[in-house]
Amino acid sequence: MDAGVPARRRREMAAAISGAGRCRLSKVGAARRPPPARVRVAVRLRPFVDGTAEENDTPCVRGLDSCSLEIANWRNHQETLKYQFDAFYGERSSQQDIYAGSVQPILRHLLEGQNASVLAYGPTGAGKTHTMLGSPEQPGVIPRALMDLLQLTREEGAEGRPWALSVTMSYLEIYQEKVLDLLEPSSGDLVIREDCRGNILIPGLTQKPITSFADFERHFLPASRNRTVGATRLNQRSSRSHAVLLVKVDQRERLAPFRQREGKLYLIDLAGSEDNRRTGNKGLRLKESGAINTSLFVLGKVVDALNQGLPRVPYRDSKLTRLLQDSLGGSAHSILIANIAPERRFYLDTVSALNFAARSKEVINRPFTNESLQLPVLAPVKLSQKELLGPSEAKRARGPEEEETGSPELPIAPASASQKLSPLQKLSSMDPAMLERLLSLDRLLGSQGSQGTPLLSTPKRERMVLMKTVEEKDLEIERLKMKQKELEAKVLAQEAADPKEKENYSSTMLRPLARRTVTVAKPLKKAVVMPLQLIQEQAASPNAEIHILKKKGRKRKLESLDASQPEKAEDGWELQISPELLAHGRQKILDLLNEGSARDLRSLQRIGQKKAQLIVGWRELHGPFSQANILGLAAGRGCGPS
Ligand code: ADP
Ligand code: MG
Repeated sequence: MDAGVPARRRREMAAAISGAGRCRLSKVGAARRPPPARVRVAVRLRPFVDGTAEENDTPCVRGLDSCSLEIANWRNHQETLKYQFDAFYGERSSQQDIYAGSVQPILRHLLEGQNASVLAYGPTGAGKTHTMLGSPEQPGVIPRALMDLLQLTREEGAEGRPWALSVTMSYLEIYQEKVLDLLEPSSGDLVIREDCRGNILIPGLTQKPITSFADFERHFLPASRNRTVGATRLNQRSSRSHAVLLVKVDQRERLAPFRQREGKLYLIDLAGSEDNRRTGNKGLRLKESGAINTSLFVLGKVVDALNQGLPRVPYRDSKLTRLLQDSLGGSAHSILIANIAPERRFYLDTVSALNFAARSKEVINRPFTNESLQLPVLAPVKLSQKELLGPSEAKRARGPEEEETGSPELPIAPASASQKLSPLQKLSSMDPAMLERLLSLDRLLGSQGSQGTPLLSTPKRERMVLMKTVEEKDLEIERLKMKQKELEAKVLAQEAADPKEKENYSSTMLRPLARRTVTVAKPLKKAVVMPLQLIQEQAASPNAEIHILKKKGRKRKLESLDASQPEKAEDGWELQISPELLAHGRQKILDLLNEGSARDLRSLQRIGQKKAQLIVGWRELHGPFSQANILGLAAGRGCGPS
């Protein structure tokens, strides 16, 4: 009988809600969903071992072939329960068989930046530690995997190969729901966290770099002695905690685009899954078993939730499942090795372990490459003299043959869309999402750059020319500003020397650049202005005609309230004044010219200090004026003493 075969749909849903589904967007190849990788399950049956066999003990379980086994059905002695797995290793199988058949094949994924995990599951005394750690004579999965992995990373990371590789190790145990650093036992309980990409992290966990197997042993062996072990009736050195060895393989690409990859390998020796009632545990041991069984019970619930596609997978309900979040239904290539014992007294624990293993093989992981781009640190750019010269100067300095061939760093042809990025990064090897972002940034800069010049996409030499032009423009502006300042200083100096000349200077000297406004020359509009006093007098007179100023070009006619006055086309802004009023005004001005002081005269239009003094002087010499229009006050024609 093949125990537990859930529907395909449930498996797909389980994978969809798994960690891999959540974090695939932040990974390389995010556009494509990673292909599924079912959790591989192998069962290892250990032989009878000294001290565990009882008199006339016969095995209750036996292998059928390399993938299946059968166990007596306790409900019906005439029948057996049959199980099929990815691999079955019988009592004669060696450590090498297990390693080569089920563990070694997944190691290559670490060098692809993917995660992998190996979990040893089963009741206490069934051979988990033997499988994972083994003995000096029969080394288990951990030493073999480390040996191979270090060899693999040495080869792949050798000089001249595209990637530089480094390996680190951490070793921890989960004991009574506490995460303890076996490499640094004084650290206390550590917290388990998840980063934004769904990776499980333990901040503060010691990581030791290892380059050789001797390095590994130097850290691992003393740490193993720190592991919490105790004696129970079932096993002299029963493992009372879940032991987790974490090996990280970091890769850095030596050339552009300088990708980084990280692959994690979890090698986990779980504590026993035995039924607490049969261990004879009391007191502290009973408490330990309770905690262990709680963790394993949650592990079972996690597997069930993944199989059934439940919306909530209870990873957080125990430290063990939280840590295994990216190993079960997550991002890892996972292999579960269920260890079972042949003795009859293990029968119920064996059936329970086989059922758990059968459920686990339906869990689907979606491993993906954990890769990111590392932007290279650029040295400050030092421009050579050639680069600082303009194109013509550069050509002269370089010579004709160099211009012909060009240089790969200085593309002469206009940049095509694919050439728009820095030559530091080869586009073909770039992440398409990153490429798209860079191109849109380029477009943005191009649309906002001065004169719409996309500087980022401009070939290097043209960019230099542009920069040089800008520099020249800046110098020109500076030069003009200096000139303006000089002129202003000159004007101020002359004004200080002769304040009377201010008017002349202001009309003849150049005005400061900043205050000059460029205007389009327009024909001057003629305006005839009369003294304010006259207008006031006119307004006070009840019979006075009221004249309205009309603008030339639109209606061009004078409207008069006096209907008897004929309408007259005008040639500009003009105020039409009655002859009497004009004569009266002229008389007033004449009086002022003949009798007013220099100060009074300055109240007239166009009369400044200099003209007023000239008028007074002229009056003293030649007597009173006879006409007011000598100053052009009424008709706009100057014929005065100036
Ligand atoms: P667990 O870790 O599951 O509690 P152990 O690995 O400590 O069990 O194994 C219990 C005993 O059985 C140990 O003495 C171990 O050497 C022995 N043993 C386990 N598996 C094998 C095996 N495949 N071949 C020989 N001896 C084994
Ligand atoms: Mg053990």
